Amino acid sequence: MSNKKINPSDLKNLHVDTLGVRAGVRRTEFNEHSEAMFLTSSFCFDTAEDAAEGFANAEKGFIYSRFTNPTVAMFQDRLAALEGGEACIATSSGMSAIMTVAMAHLQAGDHVICSRSVFGATIQLFSVILGKFGIETTYVDMSDLGAWKAAVKPNTKLFFLETPSNPLTEVADIAAIAKIAKAAGAIYAVDNCFCTPALQKPLELGADVVIHSATKYLDGQGRVLGGAIVGSNEFVMGKVFPYVRTAGPTLSAFNAWVILKGLETLSLRLEKQSESALHLAQWLEQQPAVERVYHPGLKSHPQYEIAQRQQKMGGAILSFTLKGGKKAAWKLINGTKLLSITANLGDTRTTITHPATTTHVRVSEEARLAAGITDGLVRIAVGLENIEDIKNDLLPGLTD
Ligand SMILES: *Cc1c(COP(=O)(O)O)cnc(C)c1O
Repeated sequence: MSNKKINPSDLKNLHVDTLGVRAGVRRTEFNEHSEAMFLTSSFCFDTAEDAAEGFANAEKGFIYSRFTNPTVAMFQDRLAALEGGEACIATSSGMSAIMTVAMAHLQAGDHVICSRSVFGATIQLFSVILGKFGIETTYVDMSDLGAWKAAVKPNTKLFFLETPSNPLTEVADIAAIAKIAKAAGAIYAVDNCFCTPALQKPLELGADVVIHSATKYLDGQGRVLGGAIVGSNEFVMGKVFPYVRTAGPTLSAFNAWVILKGLETLSLRLEKQSESALHLAQWLEQQPAVERVYHPGLKSHPQYEIAQRQQKMGGAILSFTLKGGKKAAWKLINGTKLLSITANLGDTRTTITHPATTTHVRVSEEARLAAGITDGLVRIAVGLENIEDIKNDLLPGLTD
């Protein structure tokens, strides 16, 4: 492999947009400019001695793609640089990243504190699957610092939250919760899916671990599934790597290559999509059919000050309630011609969804309403289309 590489110690001096295109590159003897895709399940050794040496230091070389592959390593190194973490391990999906952190770090009898408004499958994972193995989870209101403190038990080993939340874009004070986690002696994991390192760096604010669904903005074009875990060498290489090596929730080299190329445009996309989302949120606030708009960049947002402090911009996701309830929400969604009706987000194409009957349909009505997911709520994840075209697509459903 070519020697011309950015010195890891110099990465700290580079900006996120530079790291997105430059960090983590490994070249073969052909000196290819764009990163190579290594579609191989295993790697050869010259001698039995070399093989023995390779297995003794499995995390350093390339042996078998369940745990080491050069394309996956390039993605891992680039994301670690972007998040400002020492190490990163990629996984097959965002859910497998969360599962991996839990399995690598927890054991029966341990306790988890999780913010209430996390991704639906995350709640199912903690409550139903990990619950079966004797791990207990308490859910708290993410903006209530007293609730985090009060939930701590002697066996609390993990704090988990997602900010901004889906779909109401609630914002947690990452640094304030870090202090509570530290005092509790727990590992503190933040799902940085909505902001990505282009807009928010949880490790700099005191989180121990960052988790990603790379399926969303890291790929950014709605093509593949992937996940990642970023943190200290001690946690990631000491706990996560041995778990992934053994259990195999591995990211494929093909998907790693797609997401690696997605990282090159991450900053550009997030900035443009956030700008459009704020513009759309402000426009929606003026529409007579709209009751309330949720976006961290709006002055009316309850955690506006925290968002201003810890996020570079508000992010690409917004939601809003319509005065006409479910009927009006469905009419608006059905009236769009350009926007995609899909529950996915983090795509270049704007998506629109009705959370109460799709992403949150498995939640009981009582819990759903308590969480603010009313029947009139609509979520939009803004893509890269021209903002005027997005507004024109929504207008008929808001005015008829
Ligand atoms: C989508 C999502 C996940 C799960 O990721 P997958 O790649 O679909 O497994 C986890 N957290 C958040 C915030 C998400 O939006």
